[in-house]
Amino acid sequence: MSDRVCVTNDLDRVPLGERPWPCRRRGVHYAACEDQAECGGCVPRSASVGFLCDVCWAKLTDALDRVGMLTLHLRSIDSNGQALGEKVSRSIDQSMIVPDSWIAADELMDALGAPTIPSTASIDETFLLVDDAIAPWNKNTEEMVNTREGAKRAVVLIRRMQRALRRWPDSEAEWRAIPYVLCPTCLHRNLYRKAPLEYLDEILVVCGTNGCDYQREWFEWSALHAPIFQSIEDDMKRREREERRKARAA
Ligand SMILES: [Zn+2]
Ligand SMILES: [Zn+2]
Ligand SMILES: [Zn+2]
Repeated sequence: MSDRVCVTNDLDRVPLGERPWPCRRRGVHYAACEDQAECGGCVPRSASVGFLCDVCWAKLTDALDRVGMLTLHLRSIDSNGQALGEKVSRSIDQSMIVPDSWIAADELMDALGAPTIPSTASIDETFLLVDDAIAPWNKNTEEMVNTREGAKRAVVLIRRMQRALRRWPDSEAEWRAIPYVLCPTCLHRNLYRKAPLEYLDEILVVCGTNGCDYQREWFEWSALHAPIFQSIEDDMKRREREERRKARAA
């Protein structure tokens, strides 16, 4: 492991509102720490992939799985939460006023380092732009976060996504179905992977069955299922790509 620390501890030029809480080692303190009871931990977490700690890295890979769906969703709603038809034509004047959700979609594109989506873009065109924006990240995520700049983009992306998921909670991107695996409590095939809505929140596995309260932290859960997990994960990714393709065709 390198002696790099997680980039969340070094976000000087990132605007305050975009900065996640710096990742620190819980309960580990510098000798100079004045109030160890009050301070949860003041020693930064080490980076384990590029400039990200293992927690931020996991959040990034999770975010990359969702950001496409979320961006398309944000572009498909207008300011009243009404779905827009694909053939909406806007006059020059109206095109200056775009729904907040569109601005949020542009913020995600910006975090990915991609150009914003023209207000005249159809859902089809949006799909292609979004796919292009994610492609370099999916191609070599480790390399993307192996520069400070890339790692900063990654944590800003995670932060912006969480904000958008909270604000537009009907987005399907918050809940991803987990195929094949039965809920150990109710024995129904009804498990979901729930996105964290705050930076420090955990990714959860939650059962969707009415009255069943099974819930587990994602990493713990996936370690439990490690033997079959790679195929599950591959399948989830395949299904998500399929959904996006469907969204594109719709
Ligand atoms: Zn401390
Ligand atoms: Zn971190
Ligand atoms: Zn259940």
